Amino acid sequence: MLARLFRLHGLLVASHPWEVIVGTLALTVCLVSMNNLSASNQMCSWNDCPKVEEKVQSSDIIILTVTRCMAIIYIYFQFKNLRQLGSKYILGIAGLFTVFSSFVFSTVVIHFFGKELTGLNEALPFFLLLIDLSKACALAKFALSSNSQEEVRENISEGMAILGPTFTLDALVECLVIGIGTMSGVPQLEIMCCFGCMSVLANYFVFMTFFPACVSLVLELSRESREGRPIWQLSQFARVLAEEEDNKPNPVTQRVKIIMSLGLALVHAHTRLTAEHSGQNRTEELPIAKRLESAGTQWPVKLSSMDLEQVITLGLALLLAVKYVFFEQAETESSLSLKSPIISSPPTQKPWVAEDCCRRDLPAPKPHKTSNGILATSPTFLPVSDCKLSPEVDMAVREKEGIQPSAGVSCYGESLAQTPCVPQSVPEPRSLEECMAILSDPQGGAHLLSDAEVMNLVTSRKILNYKLEAVLETPERGVAIRRQMLSPKLPIPAALACLPYKDYDYSQVMGTCCENVIGYMPVPVGVAGPLLLDEKQFYVPMATTEGCLIASTNRGCRALSLSGGCSSRILADSMTRGPVVRLPSACRAAEVKVWLETSDGFSLIKEAFDQTSRFARLEKLLVCLAGRNLYIRFQSLTGDAMGMNMLSKGTEQALHRLQQQYPDVEVLSVSGNYCTDKKSAAINWILGRGKSAVCEATIPARVVQEVLKSSTAALVELNVNKNLVGSAMAGSIGGFNAHAANIVAAIYIACGQDPAQTVGSSNCITQMEAAGPTGEDLYMSCTMPSIELGTVGGGTNLPPQQACLQMLGVQGSSPDQPGENARQLARVVCATVLAGELSLMAALAAGHLVKSHMTHNRSKTNLSEVPSESAA
Ligand code: NAP
Repeated sequence: MLARLFRLHGLLVASHPWEVIVGTLALTVCLVSMNNLSASNQMCSWNDCPKVEEKVQSSDIIILTVTRCMAIIYIYFQFKNLRQLGSKYILGIAGLFTVFSSFVFSTVVIHFFGKELTGLNEALPFFLLLIDLSKACALAKFALSSNSQEEVRENISEGMAILGPTFTLDALVECLVIGIGTMSGVPQLEIMCCFGCMSVLANYFVFMTFFPACVSLVLELSRESREGRPIWQLSQFARVLAEEEDNKPNPVTQRVKIIMSLGLALVHAHTRLTAEHSGQNRTEELPIAKRLESAGTQWPVKLSSMDLEQVITLGLALLLAVKYVFFEQAETESSLSLKSPIISSPPTQKPWVAEDCCRRDLPAPKPHKTSNGILATSPTFLPVSDCKLSPEVDMAVREKEGIQPSAGVSCYGESLAQTPCVPQSVPEPRSLEECMAILSDPQGGAHLLSDAEVMNLVTSRKILNYKLEAVLETPERGVAIRRQMLSPKLPIPAALACLPYKDYDYSQVMGTCCENVIGYMPVPVGVAGPLLLDEKQFYVPMATTEGCLIASTNRGCRALSLSGGCSSRILADSMTRGPVVRLPSACRAAEVKVWLETSDGFSLIKEAFDQTSRFARLEKLLVCLAGRNLYIRFQSLTGDAMGMNMLSKGTEQALHRLQQQYPDVEVLSVSGNYCTDKKSAAINWILGRGKSAVCEATIPARVVQEVLKSSTAALVELNVNKNLVGSAMAGSIGGFNAHAANIVAAIYIACGQDPAQTVGSSNCITQMEAAGPTGEDLYMSCTMPSIELGTVGGGTNLPPQQACLQMLGVQGSSPDQPGENARQLARVVCATVLAGELSLMAALAAGHLVKSHMTHNRSKTNLSEVPSESAA
C-alpha cells in the first residue's frame, strides 16, 4: 500500500519534471522572501531553544572546527566511493543533489533564523554530515538503466516504491532522535540539533521532489545522444532491482524504527507541552532566532578577520578537492565506455555468487494471482547453501559461509570444492508448474527461480538448453547454469574451473558467433613490428600459443625495415560460392551451361544476385559439368566483408532465378565444394579466392648476415630444395612455403577472422633469388592467391578483435571505398608472411630452429612428455 503510494508519487514527479522543479524553486524563493516576516514574527518552533553565549568559548570553536573537518572528510569519502562506480552521470547527479539540497537547507536556515550568516556558517557542516547520497544514487541508477523516456518514468516510480518508504522512515527517526538534543539544555548542542533536524528535512524534501524530477528531465534532454541505449550499462534493469532488493533493510529493524519513532514522538509532545506551560515564566529568554539575529549584527566584522578555524577548514577542503580531482585514480572508466566484452572486475566488486541466484532472509512464498490469472508464488529465494553451484561459485559461497572445501585445486591455486555443499535446511525446489508460472508471469521472471529450479526446467525441456542465455535475466547466468549441468557429466567434473566465463559481453556473441556457450578462451596476443610495408609502419597483432613464432616474425620485420621495407599489390578481389545443381540429362545440363555463359543469361543471374546486398556484385560465373551435375562458381566482390554469408545469400537468390528459366534445375546444395571453402583445392590456388596478393623485398647482404645470421646463397639454395622441390615431392597444392599458415592463423585469431579459412588463405609460394651487383643481396617474394578475410561481419564484430583491427587501422567499413580496409589487411597478412618466411628460412639455414624451439617453445613442466613436432 505504502509502496504503491510512493510509486504513484514517483510517477507523478517523473512525468511532470518542469512543474515539480519550478514548484520547488518557487517554494524555496517564497521561503527566502518571507524572511523579513520570520525575522519580525517568531516562527521558530524551537521556542525554548537556549541562549547563545555572546562570547564564543574556545571549546566551542574546537568543536565547530572538528565538526566542519569531519563533514568535509565525510563528503569527500562519499564522492570517493561514488567514483568507484565509474559513472560520470552518477557523480554529476550526486553533485547536483548535494548542491541543491544545500541550497534548500541554507534557505530554510536563513528563513528560520533571519539573515544570520553566522548561523548558516555553523549549520552547513551538519547538513553535509547528514546528507545520504547512497539513496539518491540508487534512485539515479534506476533511472539510468532505462532505454526510453517511458522507462525512465517507470523506473523512477519503481525506485521510489522501493526507496521511498525506507527513506521516509529513516528521515523521521533521524529527526526525532536529533530532536532530543534540542531539549538537552546544552546551548551549543541545542543549536546543532536544530540545524540537524532541518538538514534531514531539507534532504528529504529534495529527494522526494526536485531530485527525481531533475533526473527525469536530464535524461529526457540527453535522450537524443543516447540512441535508445541505457546510460548506466548494467546488463539488465532487473540487476539494479536485485541490488536494491539485496540491500533492503531488515524488516525487524524497520519495525524497531517505527516503534522507536512513536515513542520519541510522545517524548517530544510531552516536552513541548510542558515548555508551553512554563513559557510565560521565561519571557526574558529570547528565542534562538532573535538571539542569533542580534549576534549577527557583528558578522561583517567577523568575516573581515579570518579565524584560525576557518583557515583550517578551508585548507582541508581545498586539499581534499585537489586530491580528488587530480590524484584519485578512478577504478573504472565511465560506464559509457564499457564497450569491451571483457570487463576486469574492480577489487571492490561483489563477486557473482549466490546473491544472484538465491536470496536469503526473505518471507515465505505467498501465492498470488498473476495478471493472466495464474496462481503463482511470490518471490522466494533459496538459502545460499541450497544452490547447486559451479565449482568457482561454489568456492566463493563456501568461503562466505565458512564451509570447508572438500578437495581439489583450481588453476589459480585456490582450493576447489567438488562435492555439493550440505545445506542446514534445504527447501525443495518448487514444482515445474509453479516454476513455469513464475517464469511466464510478467511480474515474475527467471531471476526469481533458483539455479536448481532452472536446471529442472532444462532437464524437463521446459527451457531449451540452447536458449538459456535468452531466457534467463542475464546471459552470464545462462552460461553458468549450462556449465553446472555439464560439469558432472565430464570425466573430471572440475574441468571447467579454469575455463573463464565471467564478465564477458555475451550479447555480441549470441545468435552471431557461438552457441551453447560455456565460457571464452583467452589466447595470448603478441605484436610483431614495426613492419615497413608500402612506406607505412604496421604493428601486427598475433594470437598464438607457439613460442618463438612472434619473436621470429618480429626478427623478419626488423630485417625488412632495415632493408627499406617491402612492397605489395592486390592482384584480384572476389569471393566465391560454388553450388551443385542437377538436370535430367547431361545434354540438358550442357544447354544450361551454354545459357549461363551468354551475356543475357549472365545479366539475368547477376540482377538477381546483386539485389541481395549493397556490396556483393557478381563478376563472373565459372561453370563446369560432371555428367548431369552442373557446378557453378559464383565470383563476387564483397566490399570489406569476407563475404561467405553474402555469397550464399546471393547464390540462393540467383539459383531461384535460374529455376524460373529452367524449371527442371534441381538444386542439390548451395555449396557443391566447387567454391572451395575451408578445404585444400587447386581451384583456389590456380584461380584465386578472396584477395590475391603479392609482396616483395630486397634484403641487402649486410642485413642477411648481421640480422638473419645467414647468407643469400644458403637461403636461395634452401628455398629451392625445401619450398619448391620438397613441396613438389609431397604433392603439395599451394604449400610452397615454410610456414605461411603459422602467421595467417595467428593474425586471423587476433583479428576475428574465420580460423578455418587458414586452409585456403595459407596458399603461398615463397621465392628467393640472389640479387644486387655482387649477387649477395637477397630478393624474395610471397605470392598468396587466396587470402579469405574481411574487416566487417563475423568475429570482427567482437570488441577485442576490433581492437586488433584498429591497431592496423583497418577496422570496419572503409570510409573512402568499400573493400579498401579488407584489401589493406590482406596486404599486411602477405607482408607479415614474407617476414615470417624470411626469418624461419634463415633460422633453418643456420641450424638454429631446433635450438630456439627447445629454449622458447617447450614447457618446462612437460619435459617428461613426448614432444610434438613444430611446423616448419
Ligand atoms: P556478414 O556479417 O554475414 O555480412 C556482412 C554484413 O555487413 C552485410 O550485412 C553487409 O551489408 C554489411 N556491410 C556493411 N558495411 C559493409 C562493407 N563495407 N562491406 C561489406 N559488407 C558491409 O559477413 P560475411 O563476410 O558475409 O560472412 C562472414 C561470416 O560467415 C563469418 O562469421 C564466417 O565464419 C561465416 N561463414 C559462413 C559460411 C557460409 O557458408 N555461410 C562459410 C564460411 C564462413 P549487406 O547486407 O548490404 O550485404
